[in-house]
Amino acid sequence: MLFRNEDRFDLTAPEHSAKLQAAFDRLKNDKDKKHPYLLDGEFVFGEGAVPSYNPANHKEIIGYVTSASIKDADRAIKAASKAFETYRLTTIKQRIGYINLLVEKLLEARYDLIALIVEECGKNLVEADWEVCETIDFCRSYAMHMLEIEQGVKLLDEEGEARSCTYQPIGVGLVISPWNFPLALLAGMIIAAVITGNTVIAKPSVETPIVAFKFAELMNECGFPKGVCNLLHGSGSVIGQHLAAHPETRFINFTGSKDVGLRINETAGATPQGQKWIKRVVAEMGGKNAIIIDKTADLELAAEGIATSAYGYQGQKCSACSRAIILDEVYDDALRIILDEIKSKHKAGPVINRGAYNFINSYIETGKKEGTLLLGGGSDDSIGFFIEPTVFETGRDAVIAHEEIFGPVLTVIKAKDFAEALEIANDTEYGLTGGVYSKNEDNLTLAESHFNVGNLYFNRKITGAEVMRHPFAGYNLSGTAAKTGTRDYLINFLQLKTITRKV
Ligand code: NAP
Ligand code: MG
Repeated sequence: MLFRNEDRFDLTAPEHSAKLQAAFDRLKNDKDKKHPYLLDGEFVFGEGAVPSYNPANHKEIIGYVTSASIKDADRAIKAASKAFETYRLTTIKQRIGYINLLVEKLLEARYDLIALIVEECGKNLVEADWEVCETIDFCRSYAMHMLEIEQGVKLLDEEGEARSCTYQPIGVGLVISPWNFPLALLAGMIIAAVITGNTVIAKPSVETPIVAFKFAELMNECGFPKGVCNLLHGSGSVIGQHLAAHPETRFINFTGSKDVGLRINETAGATPQGQKWIKRVVAEMGGKNAIIIDKTADLELAAEGIATSAYGYQGQKCSACSRAIILDEVYDDALRIILDEIKSKHKAGPVINRGAYNFINSYIETGKKEGTLLLGGGSDDSIGFFIEPTVFETGRDAVIAHEEIFGPVLTVIKAKDFAEALEIANDTEYGLTGGVYSKNEDNLTLAESHFNVGNLYFNRKITGAEVMRHPFAGYNLSGTAAKTGTRDYLINFLQLKTITRKV
């Protein structure tokens, strides 16, 4: 099977405008609707009605969801465990069949998904379309890798013994996803679980439940046996925590913040009465990503890459650049060009909710105390939660140079030479993405071996990883380094079985 990335739309082309408008209109018509969750093959309504707001306009409600109870979570675990007994025996061909159908459904729903992502999480149209494409790319790449995984492990042949060693699914998985890629990350983690023959309970972020519901609807139309895919709305600290601790949960695939990821890892480390395995945890977490500029760099290119990486989606990407480390010799010139670039091309955009707005603003206040405000710093929550692209100059030890802010805040740090720049870049507890702008081969070679991140980019932006081109995941407290879109990723949800027969 040949892989191809789904072509991104040129959304400025006139052919798209009517279809997009129709999708936004449909969304508007649904704004009073209450959406259920998917439990054991049925869409179920729980208690209450929780609204989902548009972060760009907090008076605008996108729709409502109801929350699953602990009892529902227990029912979902039972259903997924029961379904696993037979689903684990399905052939890889069958499972690929379900995923191929999912690709068709995603393509059919493309405009509706774009509209939803724009409205529910404040992305622009282009980023929203990229996300739908990334979801399709995950489907195709995992389907392709499964054909290879099906071959198992090659063993030595010997007269008198027949041997095999093949990959087996492991059980019920819990998928916990963040709001910033509400479709691609939720879907990617679910697809990885079910294409490997496991069953799954997904708990998406409370911030983006309608995108999650829409995905559950599409998934439910693909013929998966009942109980294989469950998706529950509700609070992470209540049902998420309960499911993570549950003895029948076999593995947890988490993407989100470091604090929650570490908490889940701790929870999973306990072995409650009746649990027959050690839970596996894949946790992809935050970052404090740096771009280094040395004296040989193309400064215009570097400024463009830094600004795009720092302010695309308001800095709310785990891969976003939040530190620019500039060598002394080019510091003043580089800074001037970076600030011009930001001023001319980037403006205030909405962050996800009031909590994030306050959190980011508190770091802006911290930055004002420990550094110099060079640009931005303003915010406005009268319509949506808008924060200006903000730049500080600080020393390497500043709090804002170490903690993940997850907003449009960049700190600029001066380094005396390339070795010191690398040292500053590595001086965080994270290790997700990093970049170097340089024409000096020695510096690039040094960065290859000493810049300790999972995704290192030279002379380009550090965001926008594409499936099968830039397998993505981080080091250190950025996570377990399970590279999405790869064969290795899927191995996390499988175990080898060796069978030896005397003949
Ligand atoms: P978050 O606050 O950690 O939440 C992530 C998910 O965990 C949500 O579904 C949340 O549910 C759930 N949760 C919260 N407490 C829980 C608990 N005690 N037990 C089980 N689940 C729990 O992260 P976020 O704000 O949604 O996303 C932003 C973060 O994700 C950033 O740190 C970013 O860097 C990171 N991220 C990393 C990657 C990567 O690939 N490395 C990709 C994207 C994002 P509720 O919504 O109900 O709280
Ligand atoms: Mg919202």
